[in-house]
Amino acid sequence: MRSAALLLAGFVACASPPGDEADDSLGGGGKDDRGTSSRFTEVDPTHTNQTFRTYIERSLDDLAAQDSDLARYTVASIKAGHVRIDELSDLTCADFLHVIRDLPDLHLKPSDYSTLKRRGSATTAAISAELDGYMWSNRIYVARSMDPHHVAATFVHEVNHVINRSEVGYYDDLPSSAFLHEYRAFYVERQFDPDEYAGLDLVDFVITNYELDRAKIHPEILAHPLTPKLLPTPAAWQARNVSADVEETVTCQ
Ligand SMILES: [Zn+2]
Repeated sequence: MRSAALLLAGFVACASPPGDEADDSLGGGGKDDRGTSSRFTEVDPTHTNQTFRTYIERSLDDLAAQDSDLARYTVASIKAGHVRIDELSDLTCADFLHVIRDLPDLHLKPSDYSTLKRRGSATTAAISAELDGYMWSNRIYVARSMDPHHVAATFVHEVNHVINRSEVGYYDDLPSSAFLHEYRAFYVERQFDPDEYAGLDLVDFVITNYELDRAKIHPEILAHPLTPKLLPTPAAWQARNVSADVEETVTCQ
């Protein structure tokens, strides 16, 4: 996940994202014009509109403008559909249940899922105030009303989680496992967007941002926190084989 705390709080605190008005002009505040983008695959393609697709495509333009292997492989991974993309209001039921477990302080209930897509949803607002991005399996969700460069950086971060299958490894050996997965994702994000992390100690940043207990992280991991894989290359996707992921059967009531 990519926390909205600290660095990006200003972007997500906006109560009325600029995209909402344009969404309205396309039909009542929902994502409903049934179009598609040739540049990315939506998690919920039945719930889409041009404003959302433009929001994502601007960030893909930003990614494509950077001359680096990391940016090129990330764009190619999105274009190929190795990851699927959507906004936080389009979480699947299963992913909504993961989010509410990961954000216990919000005290959300499974039945709150029914309010997620509503215009001005307090549930979506509460989640967006905590998260810029979230992933599970090969599904990546982003908050709205961030600037294109931050959306692009969030994709770099979340795609890294997907190739490393963070939804499995993250919880194995807390807090060390969460630290390893976040350190790696922020390490590549910093490569893409160094200005955002200038002067920051990345170990301290991850521990603070995710409220991890430093004393409980294995000392050898703190000393050597960087682990594979860093780039979403074709070989990395072959090894990851997202199509083999087994989906849970759950209900949100
Ligand atoms: Zn993360």
